[in-house]
Amino acid sequence: MHITKTDYLEYTFCRKNLWLRKYKPELFEDVEPTDFEIKIIEDGNLAEAACRKLYPGGYLVQAHGPAAIAETKEAMMRGEKTLFQATFQHDVFFIRADILKYNEVLGGWELYEIKATNEVKRKVPHHHVNDLAFQKIVIEAYGVKIIQASVTHLNRDYRKQGKVNYHDLFVTEDLTEEVMAAEEGVGLEMQTAKEYLNAPEEPGCLCIYEGKSNHCATFAHSNPQVPKYSVHHLNRIGMSKKKLIDWVDKNIFALEEIDNPELLNATQRAQYDAHMHKRVAINPEAIREALDGLSFPLQFFDYEGYSSAIPLFDGFGAYEQVPFQYSLHILDADGSIEHKEFLITEPAGDLTLPLVEQMKADIDPKGTVVSWYSSYEKQRMTKLAELHPAYAPFLEEISTKMFDLMTIFSNNHYVDPAFGGSASIKNVLPVVVPALSYKDLNIHKGTQASERWEKLISTQTSAEEKTKITKDLLEYCKLDTWAMVEIYRVLKTL
Ligand code: SF4
Repeated sequence: MHITKTDYLEYTFCRKNLWLRKYKPELFEDVEPTDFEIKIIEDGNLAEAACRKLYPGGYLVQAHGPAAIAETKEAMMRGEKTLFQATFQHDVFFIRADILKYNEVLGGWELYEIKATNEVKRKVPHHHVNDLAFQKIVIEAYGVKIIQASVTHLNRDYRKQGKVNYHDLFVTEDLTEEVMAAEEGVGLEMQTAKEYLNAPEEPGCLCIYEGKSNHCATFAHSNPQVPKYSVHHLNRIGMSKKKLIDWVDKNIFALEEIDNPELLNATQRAQYDAHMHKRVAINPEAIREALDGLSFPLQFFDYEGYSSAIPLFDGFGAYEQVPFQYSLHILDADGSIEHKEFLITEPAGDLTLPLVEQMKADIDPKGTVVSWYSSYEKQRMTKLAELHPAYAPFLEEISTKMFDLMTIFSNNHYVDPAFGGSASIKNVLPVVVPALSYKDLNIHKGTQASERWEKLISTQTSAEEKTKITKDLLEYCKLDTWAMVEIYRVLKTL
């Protein structure tokens, strides 16, 4: 069995999950990577390819597996001074180094790990120092001296203007001292990982003592005694460790079995009561108070955004969200409703200027702009104000007065057991307004919309497909704001 660098990093995060991956791969067969996960991998590959441009003349090891080790050896022996994907194996440990560069003056090799992140990370499972230490141990065991270990990552302060300047887009941080200090601990962990993975018995799952957000896809396999909706779903229960440990040690997993509900905090209690009585828990006074503070016309508003590791548009940096679309439903005091929308279909010139101009024409600052999870919309307003100072007063005004409809649910003024403890519009809508659903749309979530937009603006995409994507994007964003209108109407009846 091989232990790759990725295996080792996963081991430091969850050893049990790694054991399952090695011995029961069938458990992961149905776990499709999300669009978001696929995009992260693609962004990582793009960043790595872009970063290699900073090392002209480097030699790329093309082979995989044992053949890559032989190819690396041959390349070093014939005197290649910069290697991409140099591959080494020591004992069961296997690595591919992003960049190895020979330092003629110091007579040793510099190791560079490329990360499509905006900073050096030092927390499992993305611990960049341990990542480098693992590589250094394996490479040096092979007789190749590493004299410097660094991470090259994206520069969070870089903003594209014209052609991407790769020298400015990436920054390199020398972590040699930290890596050397971490080496002993990482070396010991590598040995325990090897022993652990040799264990024939399936080890226990520690997440039984963690809240739902920490569970991975194999939790149900490892804990068949825990029902689908359990004490782990209680709001922020992972922060109330004492309660959770007490229940688990007493084999209390279902909400019905909780023996001390008086210890739950107000939010957890509302969730518990809703579940126990199989009915919704509503606080009409709090809802009325929140909605009475809004001014007509109510403008239900939603952006869709796109981001990428290598910025595509002037004025934007790595992973900065580019608002490419909005939908707006305007509800007047007399109940009349109007829909407006905007979608960038052909990026040109000052990319977001037409979008802001249209917003100015569509939105009345005297009325309240209503959104769902408004911090996302507010951040986009701030960015647009920075890019288009002439519109800053307008954008700041609507942003300051924005109302977040999600707070009705996240503050537990309306709790339905069917929300599953979530305040996401995707969970709330089918329960509060069963007639509306995202299921029939070709786009179901924001990350998919972002991926579709990238396809829409590609010159490789046919006109026919562009027409289809445009329709799908408009329908998806429109449902986001129409859903808010309908949820608002239900709340008003309360
Ligand atoms: S549920 Fe938690 S402890 Fe169990 S395998 Fe998944 S991540 Fe590991």
